[in-house]
Amino acid sequence: MVLEFRDAGIYCPAADAYIDPWRPVDRALITHGHSDHARWGHKSYLCTQAAAPVIRHRLGNIHLETTAYGTTHQIGDARISFHPAGHVPGSAQIRVEVKGEVWVASGDYKTVDDGLSEAFEPVRCHSFITESTFGLPIYSWPDQKTLASELNTWWAETAAKGQTAVLGVYALGKAQRILRLLEPAIGPILTHGAVEATNDVLRGQGIPLPDTIHVTADTDVKAHKGGIVLAPPSALGSAWMRKFGVVSTGFASGWMRLRGVRRRRAADRGFVVSDHADWDGLNAAIKATGADRVFVTHGYTSQFSRWLSEQGYDAGIVQTEFGGESLDEGTDPSVEAVQ
Ligand SMILES: [Zn+2]
Ligand SMILES: [Zn+2]
Repeated sequence: MVLEFRDAGIYCPAADAYIDPWRPVDRALITHGHSDHARWGHKSYLCTQAAAPVIRHRLGNIHLETTAYGTTHQIGDARISFHPAGHVPGSAQIRVEVKGEVWVASGDYKTVDDGLSEAFEPVRCHSFITESTFGLPIYSWPDQKTLASELNTWWAETAAKGQTAVLGVYALGKAQRILRLLEPAIGPILTHGAVEATNDVLRGQGIPLPDTIHVTADTDVKAHKGGIVLAPPSALGSAWMRKFGVVSTGFASGWMRLRGVRRRRAADRGFVVSDHADWDGLNAAIKATGADRVFVTHGYTSQFSRWLSEQGYDAGIVQTEFGGESLDEGTDPSVEAVQ
C-alpha cells in the first residue's frame, strides 16, 4: 500500500510521513490550513507556500517547510508533490508515488474556480482519496456570477431599507471569496474579528481584498449605514449582533441547498455556496484522475461510495477525523484558527 489508514491519520510507509494527521507525528504533510487538517503537535510540517502564512498564524512557532505546487520531493522511497485543490488559498492535493504506483490524497477540494484559490488541477493516479461532504445529487452550486448577483441584490435591498446585512461565512476561504464578489459601491463592508484576522494574513501574502472595516467594541456602527457585515456563522444570533440594530441575516453555505436547514437557522436569506465540490464536481474530479480505486473519507460516505461502486470503481469508506462544512457553533474549522 502506498498509503495506509492508521489511528494517527493517512500514513505513507515509504516516506514515513502522514497526510493531515489528527494525532501528533514526526512528519506531517498538510493539505491546507483549516483546523481539522492542520493540527498542533507535529515535529515537522510540509505545506505549500501559499498555505503557510495561515498555518503559521494558527500554530505559531512550528517547524514548517514549504513547497511550490508541482515540485517533486524525494522523501524516503516516495516521490511527493502538491497540486492545487481549489478549496482555499494554498490548498493542495498530495500526490504520492512509490515504485510507479500513484496515490492522491485530495484533502478538501472544489472544481469551480472561485477566483481566489489556485484552480483545481486533476492529477492522474491509480488510487484517489476523496471527501464527500456534498456527495448527493441534490447538491449543485450556482455559478459565481449568479451568486454575486444574488448577494449584491440582497445587500442593496437591505441597505435601501436602512438596515444592515449580516452574512455568516467561514473565516478562511469563503469570507474572502465572497468579499471579492461584493460590489463596494453599495456600501461599507464590515468584518468580525475572526474574519478580519484571516483577511490580514491573506493580504500580507499579497492576495488583494477590498477594504474592510473591522468591527470592534469602539466601532460606531451607525456611522456605517447601508453596510454588510461578514461574520462566522456562530456569531449570528449572538449578543455581538445587537449593536447593528435591525438586520437582515444570511448564511452562505452548501447546506443552504436544504430548505429544512434554512428554516432551522431562521436566516432571512440562504446563499448556496461552498468551498467543497458539489455532486457534479466530485464525479468530474474522480473521473479525471483515471483512478480505479477510490477511498471516501468524510461526508455522505456510505451513499457516495455505494454510488461509485455502482459506477464500476473499487470504492471504500475510510474513517477519518476530518470535518465537513458545519454551521454549528464551535465547529467552523476556520474560527478556531484565529482565536
Ligand atoms: Zn477545509
Ligand atoms: Zn476539512
